[in-house]
Amino acid sequence: MRGLARPVGRFKEYNVPVRFSGYPRVALVYPSTYQASITNLFTHTAYYFLLEKSDALVDRFTLDNPDRGLVTGARLRDFDLVLASANYELDLLYLVKLLDEAGVEPLAERRRGGPLIIVGGLAAMSNPEPFLEIANASFIGDGEILLERLARSLSLLPDRPIDFLDSLGEGLYTSEAEVRKVFVKDLDSSAHPTMLIRSKLVKPVYGEGFYLELSRGCRWLCRFCLEAYAMYPYRYRSLGVVKSLVSEGLKHVSRRRVVVYSLSPFDHPNIRDLLSHLADSGIDFSLPSIRWDTLRLDDLDLLSRSSQRTLTLAPESMSPGLSCSLGKCFSLDAFRELALAALEKGFDLKLYLMVGAPSEREEDVLETARRAKEIASYSSELGRRVSISVNPLVPKPHTPLQDHPLIAEEEYLGRIGILEKELGEGAVAHLRWLHAYVQSLIALGGRGIGRLVALLALRGLSKRNIAELSETLKVDVKFPCRRRSRGERPWSRVKFPLDEVVDKVSL
Ligand code: SF4
Repeated sequence: MRGLARPVGRFKEYNVPVRFSGYPRVALVYPSTYQASITNLFTHTAYYFLLEKSDALVDRFTLDNPDRGLVTGARLRDFDLVLASANYELDLLYLVKLLDEAGVEPLAERRRGGPLIIVGGLAAMSNPEPFLEIANASFIGDGEILLERLARSLSLLPDRPIDFLDSLGEGLYTSEAEVRKVFVKDLDSSAHPTMLIRSKLVKPVYGEGFYLELSRGCRWLCRFCLEAYAMYPYRYRSLGVVKSLVSEGLKHVSRRRVVVYSLSPFDHPNIRDLLSHLADSGIDFSLPSIRWDTLRLDDLDLLSRSSQRTLTLAPESMSPGLSCSLGKCFSLDAFRELALAALEKGFDLKLYLMVGAPSEREEDVLETARRAKEIASYSSELGRRVSISVNPLVPKPHTPLQDHPLIAEEEYLGRIGILEKELGEGAVAHLRWLHAYVQSLIALGGRGIGRLVALLALRGLSKRNIAELSETLKVDVKFPCRRRSRGERPWSRVKFPLDEVVDKVSL
């Protein structure tokens, strides 16, 4: 293995060690854009780890390069193992497209002689059943654990694929038996890359800098939030470890800037010490996601010391009663005070709202719209910007709202209409209902849905194609929009730590 002095591949990557030959051949497949792939920290962790700890030839594939590896140019169909990430449900659709374009048979039962496929990531591990139409197995747990086991077992490939899968042990789901999620208990001792893959042509989504995973999981456990339940328990890296990662990581990026990955960074016991330390050391920082009620007014001064000028806050609903049914109780006075202070300090705001909560009425949406309007009007007076994004509540497995119906399309558009009437047309960006519906199909569906989605990926995403495929394959596609019983959970053999508690509090 050697690092190349010149930038390598079509994206002119640097910081990239390369091995042009080796066995087995392992493909890291990220079924999204190249840019999204380098924004995801696991891409970096897996690439460096496997090159360092095994003799494998390792390369990466995305929707921008489905056929040939980014570094070696080797064809995907010649690889022995594919490790695919599926953090979002629609990644299943894109994974099928990518495999098809690469000349690899997407359906597991028809694939002969192609690579073995293991899929992981938030969506695939929370309900692996639809993914197993494509993949041979799903890993239910933190990726670092899989990587450690791969390093020990890869030599069994390509000749002994069954022994290889058996050797991966606890957490590997093939549909045959119940599996419990495996997770890293102590983030401090878990792998975190200090060198990150960088491209001369494409910057990661949050811009240049060192990307740091400060914590995993979220202690708030809002009732709709898959990430909190799937990533439970909440864990964080200690200040000393974080500081040394930052000091090493900044040597390999072109800007002294740290992008902090954490679902709710102000829950970290030393976050204020960390941000002060960065600012005092002349290091810029960015916090892409913040739980608004963990932020104190004086934290705005601390954030002002960075170049970040937009705060992304997700109250979801500004109706106090309704917000509590989401597990995210909203206090108008506290939110107004924070939002107005942030605008006065020169921040723009990006607000995320949600519709389709249990027992939501039009009055609740109107209440939210009026409160958002008040904040938007104040921002105009100050010459600041408030942008608003709305999503429907997509019911997710393992969460207390897992059996709740997805809002009907007509009702959804009605709710968007209420928001637009108050805030002005064009002021509200919203997710297309069809996309939320397909997300729900994959999040809650079984093997039949996996088959349907595989064919849908090849035909194109449309309501008509879904209806026709449902008819041909005799697969029910109406279940997301009705209340479902406990017996309709295809993920029931995948056990997460909080499942028993969640069962007791499911609405
Ligand atoms: S605060 Fe955000 S990340 Fe945490 S549980 Fe609630 S919605 Fe999820």
